[in-house]
Amino acid sequence: MEQKKEVSIVISVYNEEKSLPELYKALTHSLAKTPFSYEFLFVNDGSTDNSLTLLSELMLKDLRVKIVNLGKNFGHEIAMTAGMDHARGECVIFMDADLQHPPQLIPQMLQHWQNGYDLVLTLRKANMDQGLGSKFMNKVFYRLINFLSDDKIPANMPDFRLIDKKYIEVLKGMREQKRLFRGLINWMGIKNHALIEFEAPRRFAGETKYNVRKLISLAIDSIISFSIKPLRIASYFGIITAFLAILLGIYFVFEFLNNPDYSFSGFGTTLVMVILMGSVQLVVLGIIGEYIGRIHMESKKRPLYFADFMEQKQNQP
Ligand code: UDP
Ligand code: MG
Repeated sequence: MEQKKEVSIVISVYNEEKSLPELYKALTHSLAKTPFSYEFLFVNDGSTDNSLTLLSELMLKDLRVKIVNLGKNFGHEIAMTAGMDHARGECVIFMDADLQHPPQLIPQMLQHWQNGYDLVLTLRKANMDQGLGSKFMNKVFYRLINFLSDDKIPANMPDFRLIDKKYIEVLKGMREQKRLFRGLINWMGIKNHALIEFEAPRRFAGETKYNVRKLISLAIDSIISFSIKPLRIASYFGIITAFLAILLGIYFVFEFLNNPDYSFSGFGTTLVMVILMGSVQLVVLGIIGEYIGRIHMESKKRPLYFADFMEQKQNQP
């Protein structure tokens, strides 16, 4: 009999003890009739609840379950990277553990892959979990990234996606510490992709792990790792203010020539100018600092994570 193709499913887990049993049930149920073999790579991202125990139990009863146990909480982006590094399948599917990425869509994704697509993306039409505030933040996040960055990242396309092995090899070559996984995939510009629309249900249990602070930091990291536009904007800023200053200077000279009694009055104006120029310089220095900081961090070439890999040996009785 022809050997079934193996598909790797990478699932990032951070304190998801309440969702895991339901997720595992939904996965096995959704995939039961598909003509593939699977490895479920659960990446435990330093959970402090019972997630690891639950995963170990699953691993003992199901050969397909494997665990990449990260040494501490490295964050979602690194968790996905660690899962990808350990994946052995012909394609890799990335998903969240909170059931916001419905396992029922996986057979459809695999169908597209079978039809020759190298990348299968998902488009979230609605997210039942997002309130107005969070929707707004999301919009700002993508507007900002896409304005400042050279590679455009579409909004509402979550990390729930399938990628063929050949591109996984390319992704593995990108080892930057600060990473937005979606951005890296986007950077490859894979033309040959399919799209599946879906409605994200509410989180099955627990709370989102992203707060405003984490989102802002992700946005800054994403902008800086994909673009040097902010540096250019900083230079334009300098050029524009210098130009304005020259105009102002010319104006004062004319005033002085036309009106001999004219005196440069206005301590206030001077103060405003000094403060304005001072703050512009600080902003520009800050932007440059962000880039230099990244160079400093990346130049250390530290490993992205450390982890134990756990799987049940195939030949156990
Ligand atoms: N996650 C992770 N490490 C973290 C934070 C989150 O691995 O530091 C996982 C989390 O368990 C979930 C996925 O990443 O499976 C997405 O997180 P979350 O649902 O909190 O994000 P949201 O859906 O609200 O964007
Ligand atoms: Mg979620």
